[in-house]
Amino acid sequence: MRVARTLPALTRAIAALRARRGRIALVPTMGALHEGHLSLVRLAQKRAERVIVSIFVNPTQFAPNEDFRSYPRTFAADLNALAAQHVDLVWAPAAETMYPEGFGTKIVPEGAALAGLEDAFRPHFFAGVATVVAKLLLQCAPDIALFGEKDYQQLKVITQLARDLNLKTRIVGAPIAREADGLARSSRNVYLTPDERKAAPTLYRALQACAAQIAAGQPLGAVLDEGRAAITRAGFALDYLEARHSATLEPIGSAQEGPIRLLVAARLGRTRLIDNVAV
Ligand code: AMP
Repeated sequence: MRVARTLPALTRAIAALRARRGRIALVPTMGALHEGHLSLVRLAQKRAERVIVSIFVNPTQFAPNEDFRSYPRTFAADLNALAAQHVDLVWAPAAETMYPEGFGTKIVPEGAALAGLEDAFRPHFFAGVATVVAKLLLQCAPDIALFGEKDYQQLKVITQLARDLNLKTRIVGAPIAREADGLARSSRNVYLTPDERKAAPTLYRALQACAAQIAAGQPLGAVLDEGRAAITRAGFALDYLEARHSATLEPIGSAQEGPIRLLVAARLGRTRLIDNVAV
């Protein structure tokens, strides 16, 4: 497994991968790798002959009051996990490589990025994500790039970005990897105290209960109100629990307007968790 940390090294490594032919997949990550990331790598290996994983904690997608400084960084362990998975290339640029002095371009997505979900609570987030992902896709020029449904709105924004900018890379979504008790795997789960960790699966259970009730024909508004109450009772500070059209993320009034995706974000102590399910 090669590790590139500068743009010239990346260019050389990608030329070597291209010389061996076959499709190239990119899996962008912020490191602190867990089973969710590795499931993306395995899916990438099914879809492409060569796999690149990028590791970059992107400062521009964090607001000043967010956890950029404390975000978990486990680079040595990440490299071991990726080598064990037979990844071909790791792209791990420094912040100065991605944003050198004089950097002055920002991609500000609209459409799915203005759905009133994550954007309502993290207004800076999708411009940071869109800009860094566009750079990663241009730097690596992969045939496909994989993103988790865990970050469902982000997957929609990136799909839209690739289409709108006529990027050659096909964006592929991957299912959510969960702990045995249902908690969606996340690099931020390490922030949870033992008590918070016990309460955390409530989020997924509430989503599942809402999805079952909606599928059984119960009225959307009442189901969501009960879901919101259950999440708050479990000790979360709720940012949102919403039913949206699964393709457009537009609000919907009844199950007939679906297919529905239920999306939630809530804070438990200092940890902000997000999750979503299909109905
Ligand atoms: P992150 O390192 O958190 O920015 O995530 C990198 C990629 O892994 C994103 O496409 C995420 O959606 C995806 N991802 C993170 N957690 C999971 C999970 N539990 N299941 C599936 N994909 C995930």
